Amino acid sequence: MSQRANGAINLLTVDVEDWFHILEVEGGYTRAQWNGLESRVAANTDALLQEFADAGATATFFVVGWIAARQRDLVRRIAAAGHEVGSHSYWHEVIQGHTRESLAADLGGSRKLLEDLCGRPVRGFRAPGGSITPATAWAFDVLVEQGYAYDSSLCPGVSSHGGYPSPFHGPHRVRCNTGELAELPSSTVAVAGRRIPYAGGGYLRLFPYPVIRSCIRLDNRGGRPANVYVHPREIDPEQPRMELPWKRRFKYYVGLRSTRAKVRALLREHRFASAADWLAAHGAEIADRVLDVREVAARSPAAPPDPPPSPSADR
Ligand SMILES: [Zn+2]
Repeated sequence: MSQRANGAINLLTVDVEDWFHILEVEGGYTRAQWNGLESRVAANTDALLQEFADAGATATFFVVGWIAARQRDLVRRIAAAGHEVGSHSYWHEVIQGHTRESLAADLGGSRKLLEDLCGRPVRGFRAPGGSITPATAWAFDVLVEQGYAYDSSLCPGVSSHGGYPSPFHGPHRVRCNTGELAELPSSTVAVAGRRIPYAGGGYLRLFPYPVIRSCIRLDNRGGRPANVYVHPREIDPEQPRMELPWKRRFKYYVGLRSTRAKVRALLREHRFASAADWLAAHGAEIADRVLDVREVAARSPAAPPDPPPSPSADR
């Protein structure tokens, strides 16, 4: 008999990157060094594919373009298993590290590569580190220009890259200077006046499963899907360890032995869909939930600096 908690459909997403793609590590590996490192992403992603197949769950896999270029069959296996393929950028660089032009090249290039490999349109994006903030809201303009229909980068709560304060704690739309797209933010829960992510990354590994389950129920009762995300490396306790300050070491390596069982429990007790399938079924319901970023997005790094105030202005 099914143990599934309720009928709500939640989002199941994977950020496909390798163990050395941890962001902003001082003295970490350079892009030039990546080629010489042991790759563990295919085996770990295959293990997730097996878990999802066993549970009959469909997911969205946001794939780093650099990985896709080297693991072409992996992208094909993901698509052949019926999952959606999205972009996690080509170079796995935070948005703050881009200009408008370099982001356009990255998003356009990764999308084209992934579409060629999976033979289907690629419509979704997740920024490395969820790094779209009000200061980089111009990224939405680029996303629309590059043909993306939805984003799943915003964190309306505590985030190492700043997060995006927003009145919406579930799926909504974003209106930017070049058009509109859907937004599937990460799931957060209110704790002592702050919103804490609970459904992915270090939080998913750290929080006991019953806590995560309670948070999902809370979101589902509020009419919101949980946005669960996992990295292939998070089910790999044998991965090489990078030199990190102790706080980040804890964040990246806590709970590696228990995460696969936690994912299995999530799959057993909840219903999941890919982002594309969720939007096809529920997209119309979020039409009037619009976050308008046009004003902040106008301040792009390509824009000229503001002119000095007119000397006559204060007279
Ligand atoms: Zn990532």
